[in-house]
Formats: sequence, C-alpha cells, structure tokens
Amino acid sequence: SGSQSRRQAINAVTGYQVPDKDFTEPLGELFGRNTFSPAVMKSRLPKSVYKSVMSTIDKGTPLDPTVADVVASAMKDWALENGASHYAHVFYPLTGLTAEKHDSFLSPEDSGASMAEFAGKTLIQGEPDASSFPNGGIRNTFEARGYTGWDVTSPAYILENPNGNTLCIPTVFISWTGEALDKKTPLLRSQQAMSKQAARVLTLFGHDDIDTVVSYAGAEQEYFLIDRHFYFSRPDLMSSGRTLFGAKPAKGQQFDDHYFGAIPERVLAFMIEVDRELFKQGILAKTRHNEVAPGQFEIAPLFEKANLAHDHQQLMMTTLQRVAQRYGMECLLHEKPFAGVNGSGKHVNFSIGNGNQGNLLNPGDTPHENVQFLVFCAAVIRGVHKYGGVLRAVVASARNDHRLGANEAPPAIISIFLGEQLADVFDQIAAGALTGSKPAGTLTLGVDTLPPFKADPGDRNRTSPFAFTGNRFEFRAPGSSQSISGPMVAINTILADSLDYIATELEALIEGGMEFDAAVQKVLKDIITEHGAVVFNGDGYADAWQVEAAERGLPNLKTTVDALPQFDRPEVKDLFEKYGVLSNRELASRLEVYLEQYALSVMLEASETLEIAKTKILPAAIRYQGELAGAAMNLKAIGMSFDSPTLDAITASVGALTSGITGLETALGIHAGESSMEEAVYAMEKLIPAMAAVRAAADELEGLVADDTWPLPTYQEMLHIL
Ligand code: ADP
Ligand code: MG
Repeated sequence: SGSQSRRQAINAVTGYQVPDKDFTEPLGELFGRNTFSPAVMKSRLPKSVYKSVMSTIDKGTPLDPTVADVVASAMKDWALENGASHYAHVFYPLTGLTAEKHDSFLSPEDSGASMAEFAGKTLIQGEPDASSFPNGGIRNTFEARGYTGWDVTSPAYILENPNGNTLCIPTVFISWTGEALDKKTPLLRSQQAMSKQAARVLTLFGHDDIDTVVSYAGAEQEYFLIDRHFYFSRPDLMSSGRTLFGAKPAKGQQFDDHYFGAIPERVLAFMIEVDRELFKQGILAKTRHNEVAPGQFEIAPLFEKANLAHDHQQLMMTTLQRVAQRYGMECLLHEKPFAGVNGSGKHVNFSIGNGNQGNLLNPGDTPHENVQFLVFCAAVIRGVHKYGGVLRAVVASARNDHRLGANEAPPAIISIFLGEQLADVFDQIAAGALTGSKPAGTLTLGVDTLPPFKADPGDRNRTSPFAFTGNRFEFRAPGSSQSISGPMVAINTILADSLDYIATELEALIEGGMEFDAAVQKVLKDIITEHGAVVFNGDGYADAWQVEAAERGLPNLKTTVDALPQFDRPEVKDLFEKYGVLSNRELASRLEVYLEQYALSVMLEASETLEIAKTKILPAAIRYQGELAGAAMNLKAIGMSFDSPTLDAITASVGALTSGITGLETALGIHAGESSMEEAVYAMEKLIPAMAAVRAAADELEGLVADDTWPLPTYQEMLHIL
C-alpha cells in the first residue's frame, strides 16, 4: 500500500549513506577516456588513414572504404585493452529511444571459442533484426531488412559495466532500399543542406575561406528524481512514465521539514557520479538544481556540433536513468510526471558557424559582422514564420501535450523573442523600407555600428518558445524525453530554405546592378515586412496573446493531433524533399509512426487508468466506506447519532468513480478506426476525457479515504521524500 512504500522510502532516506565510490581521479583526467577520439585515432592509426577519417569527420568527405579495415582493427585492439568483450551498433529508431544490439568479439571455432576478426565491414555495416522497430510502412514484413551504418562523425565509445564492457558504435539505421528509419540520418542530411546554402550566403559576403558550416546544439535537460520504493508502488509511473492519479499536494505536511535535510546528499552524490560517467564519454556536463518544482533538477552540457550533441544527449538520458538506480532513485524523464506541478522541458540552444567564420549568430562588434549577423538572424525569422507549424509538429507527443501551453512552458503558438534591442533594429529596417529614406536614427546597414547586444538576462522571456539569447537561439518547446534530432532537423532544414532564398535574391539583385549593401538592405526589409508577425516580445502565457496570435495568422496547434498533420502539407513535403532531408515517402512514414505512437501511448494510459481504478482505488474506497458505515451502525445501535459528511462525500465519489470506470471501459472497448489518424483522434476526443473523469473522482477520494488505506504513494511523499 501507499503507507508501506512510504515507510520503506523513509527508511531508505533516513538510513542513507553516500556509498564510498573511491572517486580518486580528478574529473579533468577522466575527460574522453572512454572514447575512440581523434586523439586516440591519431596515436593508433597510420597517418594517411587518420587523415582520411578526419577529413570525413571535419569536411564531410565520403568515407574511403579501404581505410575501414585498418580503423576497425585499431578500434578492436583499443576496445579489448579497455575490457570490452562485445561490440554494439547503437542506433536511434523513431521511438526516440536508443537501441543497441550487442555482438561478441568471440566466435566459436572447432577448437573452442576464440577471438574473431573485427573486420571493416563489421564496423561499417550491421544488420540488426529490426523488424519490430516502427517504420511507418516503409518496410513490408517480408522485406524487413534494416541496416546500421557507422557514423564516422560520432566517436565510438566504451560502455562500462562492472561485469564487462561494451564497444559502442554510433550508427545510422536505414532500410535495405536506403530509406531512413531513424532520427540520425535526416540530421546528417539536414546539416549538409544547411551548410551548402550558408556557404552561398557567406560567399556573397566576400569570404574566400569558407569551411563547412555546422549547427551547434546545447540541450538543457530537466528531470525528476523519486525514491524507487515509490516508483515500484506506482504502476502508472512504471508503465507510462507519469502519474495517472494523485491529488495536488496539501501544503505543510509533516515530511517537509523532517526529510528535507537528506535531499541534497543523495542527489548530489548521484549528480557527481553522473558527471563522471559523462566526462568519460567526452560529454562536458555541468549540473545544477532547478528550483521550480520539488524533486526536479536540470543538467546542461557544453554545446557541440548538433550530430554529436544528439548522440551525447541520448547517452545522457540513459546515463541519468542508469546512475539514479545506483542511488535507489528513479529518474523520470517524462514531460509531466505530476499534474499540477511544473513539467520538464529540454531547451535546445543552437547556433550555426564554423572555425573560420565563427558563430554566425553572434552580432559581433563591427558593422560588417552586424550585417552578416542580421542576415542569418533574418533567415531564422523567416524560417520560423514560414514553418512554425513544422517546429510545433516536431515537438508533438502525447507526453508534451501535457506541458505545452500549461502556463509553465511555452504556448503551442510558435513565435520568436528577439529582445527589445534586436526587435528595434528590425523595426527600423522595416520602417526604412516604408519611408524609402534614411532619416536620422535609422540604421544604415554597413555604415552605422549597432550597439553591442546584451545577452538576454535570465528568466525574462521564459514564455517564448523560440528566443534569441545573445549569440544563439533557444528552442524551448521540446520536451524532456524527446530526441533533439527532430528539432535540429527542422531548424537546419528551414535555415537551408531561408538561406537559399536569401542567396538567390541577393544574387539576382546584384546581377541586376544593385550595390551589395543596398541589396542586403532590400532583402532584410522584405523579410521583416513579410515575416515580422512571428516576432513577439510580450507575455506568451497571457490569454491576450492567443487572441493576438490568431489575428497575426500564427497557427495555434494545441495538441499532437492538431500538429502532426503539418507533415502532410504540400509545402512541407516539398521543403524536406527539395533539400534531400526526407523524401515524401520517408516523411509520410514518420507521420504514420508518430500518430501511431500517440494513439498507442494514450491507449496504454487508458488501460492502466482503468486497472488502477478498478483494482486499487475502488476497493480502498469501498473498504473505507464500509468502515464508516459500520461505525454509523454501531453508534446508532447504542442510541447515538452519526452524521458523517465524509461518508456522504465518499458515497458520492464512489458513485462518480464507478460511472467513470464504466465510461472508460466502454470507450476502450470501441474500435477506434482503421487509420492511425482515426485512432489518434479517437484517443484525443474519447479516451483522454474518459480518463480525466476517472481521475477526478479518484483524486477526490484521495482526500477522503483514510491515509493508511490509500493504495498509492501520494504526491506529497513522492516529491518530498528524497
Ligand atoms: P540558461 O539556463 O541561461 O539558458 P545554461 O547555461 O543552462 O543557460 O544552458 C545554455 C546551453 O546553451 C548550454 O548547453 C550551452 O552550452 C549552450 N550554448 C551556449 N552558447 C551556445 C552557442 N553559441 N550555440 C549553441 N549552444 C550554446
Ligand atoms: Mg536556457
């Protein structure tokens, strides 16, 4: 029961001692130790092979197949020296999770087991039995082949386990027809597309040493920690990652003061070990508490190239979960584990640039840099305005629906926050176009120097889903459990489109005889005039914004079911196809998979709700109702009156719960439809309200039924006993 797990958790917390892990090496010495990094490759590969691999990593040149055998052999030796007995191709299926298939380095021979060759072809290509990964109809079951292919740009690494280590090789995952079945392939493709168009713009700005332009990403990860005793007495948390029941915690319950002191020690010990694990994998992590919700914390790594940041982010999520268990805790990555308590997001900070041209979203100090910055910034503005629906769709999930627009996370309306200063600059550009002259105080591009931009101070613009923060943008709508691939693919692709547009316009204007400065000014004016509606510096939580956004024509796609069909719009299909990021078939398969996942996860929650209501909550309520009725009978028998508002209230709530259960059972029994879209709509329109009715009655009962009878740990307990 709830009170039992509470006792166990309290014992775990009060008796808690930080395990002596003998962490003697300083953090700095651990950095990258478990990675087959460029430094390791340099020391172990022949010079020409090393150069060839580095050229693939840095410049995106195709991998020379003849070097694969050499690299594989060096990688195997390194892995064996580091205690690995197995290797695994790690890939990122459309579930958003990380998948890995382990193979032993050993293979049987006549004389017994012996060490096998780890050939180049084993490194480069694997064939997991992949028929059960979602593919949205791309593969028929009779041709269920899927291949994993080594992504040279992401270093292989050793995954440690006390009982033996594994060499992990990050890979792409594609069908036998070469279509993307994963989150990584389109990310790599979108990087390439963006780089190509950015280079065109940089060429127009007169650069002659243009390096590959990459996007950088730094993701802030929020998460909850709860004691595992609670976790295992909450079947809802175990099956769906969030509590499907639970009344809002009452303030000032006795546990707060008593157990608060234990919180930092266990959590800090956990954080220290997480940092060490991440450091070994070459992930530069810095952690900090998040004070917004009890039991909620945040970790942010240093930003990296988006492809690497993606793989590292996935590794970070599994590391958080793995290490938490060593400390008797469960790490909850769900976007909204507790209703009425703040949810968890994953802010994706991004910029684009390279070693030669620097950060292209950095305003810089000189007019020339300023203008170039404004052009790249305008590209973002145009893309977010034109394809706001896509940005909304890539963060859509049943989980994130509980968070977006819940007045603690950005609304579902995609707008851009520029900050006062930058917004003013764009206002001036727009005004300049209107008057056609350059009155005093109006920016003259390439001549006046913009004042240095202030970095956005702190929390000021939390309410914006897409904010400029001094030298980068921060996309705040992604949810805590989501892969950063979707957001980064969308951002890269809309940037490719905008930069393509800008380069094409500039080239035409210059061709037509216009001065470069004037041409840039015209293009900036056009963009801000046409797309300025997406800039919003006000309060995104305010109801007035919903009205204003509608007037501005910005879509407000409130749920996943509203958002996902964006992938079916002709202009969106064209966008992804044109830049070679996702073919129409690949995009359609994604829409199919995501709709299916939405429907499946709501259905799972609905079944779990039904089961808990029927087998745990209703019995507890009826038991207590009987106890009260018995007391009433006894009192009456000895001539005393018994007037219990509690008994009346319980009887009413038991009635509500019973009819809620019937309603949900009926809703679950109805065939939802033929297509995944019909199933998703049914889940949203019928199952979610039916679940809500059950929960409302159950949460009511939680406040009425005796605490020692209540079957589930409460919010108060889960959030505060840590
Ligand atoms: P805040 O909470 O103020 O947004 P944090 O320091 O928690 O800041 O997280 C900011 C994230 O943004 C970090 O991951 C950081 O590495 C990343 N970041 C900083 N500069 C850039 C940049 N130029 N491009 C991409 N990401 C960046
Ligand atoms: Mg931030």
